[in-house]
Formats: sequence, C-alpha cells, structure tokens
Amino acid sequence: MEKIQLSESSFKAVDDYCQYRRIVGEDDGGTLFTPEQYEEYKRKVLPQRVKNRLYVSYGVPGGIDCNLIGPETQCFCTHKFKQHKTEWETVPSVRPLALQCLAKGCRCTGYQYVPKIGSNPVRCRCKHLPQDHYEAAGHLCKMCSSCSGFKSTFTCGCGKPSSVHQTLVETKEEREARGRPVGWGVPYAAMGGLTGFSSLLDGYLALEARDSGIMNFVLCPFIHLFSLIQSQIPPFEADVSQPADENTTFFRLRTMDSDLEMLCLIPVASHMAANRPSAC
Ligand SMILES: [Zn+2]
Ligand SMILES: [Zn+2]
Ligand SMILES: [Zn+2]
Ligand SMILES: [Zn+2]
Ligand SMILES: [Zn+2]
Repeated sequence: MEKIQLSESSFKAVDDYCQYRRIVGEDDGGTLFTPEQYEEYKRKVLPQRVKNRLYVSYGVPGGIDCNLIGPETQCFCTHKFKQHKTEWETVPSVRPLALQCLAKGCRCTGYQYVPKIGSNPVRCRCKHLPQDHYEAAGHLCKMCSSCSGFKSTFTCGCGKPSSVHQTLVETKEEREARGRPVGWGVPYAAMGGLTGFSSLLDGYLALEARDSGIMNFVLCPFIHLFSLIQSQIPPFEADVSQPADENTTFFRLRTMDSDLEMLCLIPVASHMAANRPSAC
C-alpha cells in the first residue's frame, strides 16, 4: 500500500475541509464557499439548524425506534438522507412531513427508509429491488407488471413485518413528547435521528446493549465540536458539565463520514486519559 506523508498544515487543511463538508453538506451547490461566505453561512444557518432540527427514525407507530437515520443512510430512491431537504427556516406544520429528494432528476417526494439485509436492501414481493421500482409515490415496478407497488415480506428485528413500519420525521418537541432522546445541539447538516452511540445500533440491539451494560462504554468527546458550537450558537442550551446518559453520549468528529466509520469506543476506565485533547 502506498504511504502518503502529510505535514501538520496539510492535516489541518484536510480536517478543516472535513469540518466544512459536515457543516455545509450539499448547500454550496458543489462550489466551495469563500471564507467570508462560509462565516456568513455559519452565522445564519447554525442557530436555525439547532432550533429546527428534524429527527428521522424508522419503526412501528407506538413501538421502539428500529433504526435511526443518519446523513449517509440510503432512501428508497437510492440517494442518501443528506441529499434530501432536511432544513427549513420555519418547519411546516403539515404532518406527515415529507423530506423531498434534491438530487437532480429524482422524483422522490419524501425520504423513506428501506431495511437492509447485510449491505443489500430488502426485495419486494415481486422479487425486484427498490431501485427497480419508480421512486415516485406508489413505487410501481419497472421490471414486471405483477407488482402493485413495492412491498417487502421482510420481518424486522423487532419481530414485526416491515409493511407495518414507517419512516417518521419529527421535531425536537415531538420527539421529546414521545420520551425519546434528542441529544445535544450539533452544527452538522442532515443529522437525522443520530443522537449518540446507541443511534448506530438497530433498535432492538440498542435495548439489549443497554440491558447487558455494553452502553457503559462512552465515545471520545469531541472537544472541537463544543468549541465550535459555543462560538457559533450562543446561547447554547446544552450544559456540557452534566454527565451524559447512554442516549446522549458524544459524537466523535469523524463519525459522520459514514455513520459507522471510525467510531472510537473507549472503556470508561480509560476515559480520562482519552479525554485529553491530544488523544482526540
Ligand atoms: Zn432521490
Ligand atoms: Zn429519496
Ligand atoms: Zn417487480
Ligand atoms: Zn415490486
Ligand atoms: Zn422494527
């Protein structure tokens, strides 16, 4: 494997770019903002983003959240969650709230999670994959005439058929009213339902992990994140001096590249050592 050597300033440039991408998402339309535009973007968008954050989950109404949607989670239309409209200056009051796909040429009218078996999405009863069906409402099959719209026989880990599940989009207040964790206010785009480490597990596995004490592991707190939040979003509601419970553990910076990639699990015993800025 080829080794690439980077100087300290190059590392910083890469870090800055990653940070930029997580904050700006797709909002620059493919052309990097100038430093001035970037500062203006943060000043204008971040307070609104924290205030109006929408949480996206997949589950049976009244049941557990079987899956929480992150920026990289694929929609029925094959595009990622972050490619859908996830922010408004004022959140519409209509429910269910549809998060339309913004990818060019895509006719998806609302983000819809499709469960996966391994890395493959589940198939329809007609044996064809989601992408073989039209992304527009109704999801008729392009490959066969026997299909009356995508429907899978897959049974979720919660024991219920996928056909009784729905993708739920809710505000912070709505999610709190259901007694679900809302995590800290984060400045990143399209965070969906991710609020902490347990968000990355399937719902029933998260419950199991909690019962077995696995959630006594914590994630390396991301110090830069808090300094960024504190500088960008006054007044910030979260009190970082309070201990986080298992549902509001911190994110590591690089987690958002792919929802699982580079997760850093640190046992509680070594947490203090890992907390030093140099370890992050
Ligand atoms: Zn799409
Ligand atoms: Zn979509
Ligand atoms: Zn078909
Ligand atoms: Zn079908
Ligand atoms: Zn389920």
